[in-house]
Amino acid sequence: MKPFVLIAEDEESLVELLSYNLRAEGFRVDHVLDGGEVMGRLDEELPDLLLLDWMLPNLSGIEICRQIRRKSELRNLPVVMLTARGAEDDRIRGLDAGADDYVPKPFSTNELMARVRAVLRRTRPILAEQRIVRGVVELDLDTHKVTRNGTSIHLGPTEFRLLQHFMEHAGRVQSRTQLLDAVWGRDSEVEERTVDVHIRRLRKAMNVGNAPDIIRTVRSAGYAFEAPAA
Ligand code: CA
Repeated sequence: MKPFVLIAEDEESLVELLSYNLRAEGFRVDHVLDGGEVMGRLDEELPDLLLLDWMLPNLSGIEICRQIRRKSELRNLPVVMLTARGAEDDRIRGLDAGADDYVPKPFSTNELMARVRAVLRRTRPILAEQRIVRGVVELDLDTHKVTRNGTSIHLGPTEFRLLQHFMEHAGRVQSRTQLLDAVWGRDSEVEERTVDVHIRRLRKAMNVGNAPDIIRTVRSAGYAFEAPAA
């Protein structure tokens, strides 16, 4: 699953340039041109990182950043602020408002990409990792290889994405809706019972022999990944 970056920037040519470069780096990208629409978009779908311009129509980047830090469900969202204001006190105001990093315009796209990666490594190390290891289960995001106790397991693409999502949220209960959004995408027409079908396939593939189940069913709540210890 590609990490999702939301760009809040009113300069369309810059949005285009940033989107192009982020996609080339393996990110999924969407953008908002109006400052007044940013909070609503964040409510719809939580990105892995927000690139936030300081000067936006209707609501400034700095005010958006403050609102983000006041909302408990957004508090940990990594925010990189972009701005034409390069003055030192502006930088400090940006960081004070809760930005994780602050990049003055004009910037080279290479530098910005490096900053984005650095912020993600710090705030969401899981996204920078190529290999996810939870207990005896290992998942390689490059080769799509999955092993349990060193034995390789073949998974279909959907089961792979499900397992990846579970491992990234190990121990936390995932509702069917959350799983649908994460694995099939928010706009998919897939029904919730399809989730159950793929969970069943994932369990069948993962629970070789009489190995303990790695997925716990939480009644009327959803499912959680439980990493069996080695
Ligand atoms: Ca602007």
